[in-house]
Amino acid sequence: MLVAAAAAAVLFAPAQQPDVQLVSNVQSETDGLNPVVKFAYTLAKQDAAKQHVPLAITSGHRTWAQQQALWQQGVAEYGSPQAARRWVLPPAESAHVKGRAIDVRPIEGARWLERNGNKYGLCRRYLNEWWHFEVATLPYQPCPAMLPDASYG
Ligand SMILES: [Zn+2]
Repeated sequence: MLVAAAAAAVLFAPAQQPDVQLVSNVQSETDGLNPVVKFAYTLAKQDAAKQHVPLAITSGHRTWAQQQALWQQGVAEYGSPQAARRWVLPPAESAHVKGRAIDVRPIEGARWLERNGNKYGLCRRYLNEWWHFEVATLPYQPCPAMLPDASYG
């Protein structure tokens, strides 16, 4: 129900009308995520909260333009596309643009999700990014081995 309500809120929210104040258009951390990822994360967050573990999304779905900006920033920062790819991918390849990846915080919550995420199909994907999770297995099945970094994906 929560997921359906959230989806309806997104579908009917006047996203291009920031001047309209009569309709609530509150941004949610799960906006734009693939429904399977959104559902898995929502369940995980509820279970983490029951254990008093904080868990939140730093960056979930990103638009093409947002990812393009991050990519260009990464290439500038790391000096080459090859070096940047260890930390950020171009928009055509990014799981964030597809709504299939979440970066979580704080590290305590990420550690909890790394231990428990497979119950919801959520797996940490990269050895160099403790914060990045994707749905990468079926619920209660083991997660695949982590890749060294995003350039291996
Ligand atoms: Zn990420």
